[in-house]
Amino acid sequence: MARYTESVCKLCRRENLKLFLKGEKCLTEKCPEEKRPYAPGEHGRRRRGKESQYALQLREKQKAKRLYGVLEKQFRGYYQEASRRKGITGENLLQLLEARLDNIIYRLGYGASRAASRQLIRHGHVLVNNRKVNIPSFLVKENDVVAINPKSSASQAIKVFVKSPNRAEVPSWIRADDKNLKSTIIHIPEREEIQVPLQEQLIVELYSK
Ligand code: SF4
Repeated sequence: MARYTESVCKLCRRENLKLFLKGEKCLTEKCPEEKRPYAPGEHGRRRRGKESQYALQLREKQKAKRLYGVLEKQFRGYYQEASRRKGITGENLLQLLEARLDNIIYRLGYGASRAASRQLIRHGHVLVNNRKVNIPSFLVKENDVVAINPKSSASQAIKVFVKSPNRAEVPSWIRADDKNLKSTIIHIPEREEIQVPLQEQLIVELYSK
């Protein structure tokens, strides 16, 4: 399966935004985006001129892909599905991305990053409605129950991890039961419940050209 293999911190520096791709390191002063807040490479420190509308749309799409850890082909597929659905395409797109199982595990704080969450899923530590699901892009639905397999070797480590003061707040659309590592999707989030620094309308404009 294709995946991004270069330094993920470069992606944050390219977007000039902390994308939180490295777990705990992102919360420390070692974060390269804080130490060197300019694009990587020889010309990274150059002052950017006024960007064209196309450049802004492209950057927004790249930012979204990098934030959720999705490659181009799959991301385009989400856009196509979002535009088929009723409602606002940009909001549908974000809802699809938020409903990915790797994002849910990350939002619950069971994985330090979306990449770590994907690994937990691929290694068979995650159950959805009591069935093992090892596909990170699996889309959850309202009332689905997402759990860490109680027999999993990872469950004790996750129980310790969720008590970490660095754990982000679990969003209100997920009911988390940390004792049993079993959580319920109350509903798929509305736009105002999705806390991501994205202007999804720019992505829609880019793809609908
Ligand atoms: Fe981005 Fe985290 Fe690396 Fe900082 S430490 S640049 S937030 S991935």
